[in-house]
Amino acid sequence: MFPIMPPEGAQIILNRLNSAGHEAVLVGGCIRDTLMGLPPHDWDMASSASPEAVKMILEGFRILETGIKHGTLTILLDRPYEITTYRAPENSACRLFKDLACRDFTINAMAYHPNSGLTDPFGGQKDIQARIIRCVGSPKDRFAEDPLRALRAVRFQSTLGFSIAPETRSALDTVCLDPVAGERIGSELRALLAGKYAARALTETPEPVLAAVPELSTLTPDALSSEDEVVRLAAFFHMLSPQSIEKAMRRLAFSRELTDCTVQLASHADEPLVPADALRWLSKMPVRQIRRLAALRFALTGQRQDAFLKALESALDSGHAYSLKTLAVSGSDLIALGAEPGPKLGLVLTRLLDAVISGNLPNEPDALLKAAQPLLFEHAR
Ligand code: ATP
Ligand code: MG
Repeated sequence: MFPIMPPEGAQIILNRLNSAGHEAVLVGGCIRDTLMGLPPHDWDMASSASPEAVKMILEGFRILETGIKHGTLTILLDRPYEITTYRAPENSACRLFKDLACRDFTINAMAYHPNSGLTDPFGGQKDIQARIIRCVGSPKDRFAEDPLRALRAVRFQSTLGFSIAPETRSALDTVCLDPVAGERIGSELRALLAGKYAARALTETPEPVLAAVPELSTLTPDALSSEDEVVRLAAFFHMLSPQSIEKAMRRLAFSRELTDCTVQLASHADEPLVPADALRWLSKMPVRQIRRLAALRFALTGQRQDAFLKALESALDSGHAYSLKTLAVSGSDLIALGAEPGPKLGLVLTRLLDAVISGNLPNEPDALLKAAQPLLFEHAR
């Protein structure tokens, strides 16, 4: 599998720094993924060079100080690359080894140098072979140092399908995640929920991780069957009230849009999807959300929603009105009838739409305008 062929941008960064007399290596997830035959999604680097030296050597490239407190810069080339200065103090011996010793799990504690090749001081390759997540160093100490690692262990179980080494697993039982920032939990949680092996990982989730993210305990494996992130999140949170979902997702630093979509789905999670109601659903929410709702119902009840989805497609194909946009009259048509512009126009249009959706009116201008007259009059009073 080796040598690794990183994208061109990474090669440029590594070559420049190494030819300037520093040491620069690829580290972490990209080495793990390459060894597993998976395509890495990012190519992180570590270097003996200080951030100032990196900036000088890579002068002319766009460089962002994305984590300067931790010595991390992001270099924008063919894609963004993160490069972090070795955590060990300058001039100390074995800085790469010390940097790797600070990393969480053996499978994430390997580095690759373009000339000298792989550094694997903690048996990461062996653990990849055996499909094991094992702390670097003493698990108890490492989890105490940064309790987020407990959630990361479950996250890697979920994304890689590995099991957790016995000593690491027993240390998980005494971790406390209280001091960890919600934002850090949120980003691991997202990865966890998206994992291919999430269902199995959840059945084994250690107590302290459940205490930090109680919603995990309400999840059934079926609830994670969807490919769609919003569906998974809605399945995850559906037992909570809309307000609690809002609060939890804000604490976990999810985006506004993801939160709104999740709240909308979760608040309809208990409603059966009846084929005859397809148009009504279309009047309530975007079609993408309705398809997600069907996936959510399947995830939660195990019942396929084929009949409803078929009705939804025919409703879309039929040209039948289901939204104000598809109604055959608009606000300006009503104004042309002599109505005053203002919010009541919206009310009248909505009532016309309701009548069209329930089949009491055809979606035709004449019929709609005729029906609008008394409504406009009634609302004007
Ligand atoms: P992914 O492929 O999902 O990005 P990753 O292993 O690259 O997985 P990141 O969160 O991107 O995970 O972290 C990059 C690397 O930094 C890890 O591989 C690991 O070596 C180290 N690392 C990240 N978080 C921690 C932590 N909390 N404690 C120790 N080392 C960590
Ligand atoms: Mg990464």
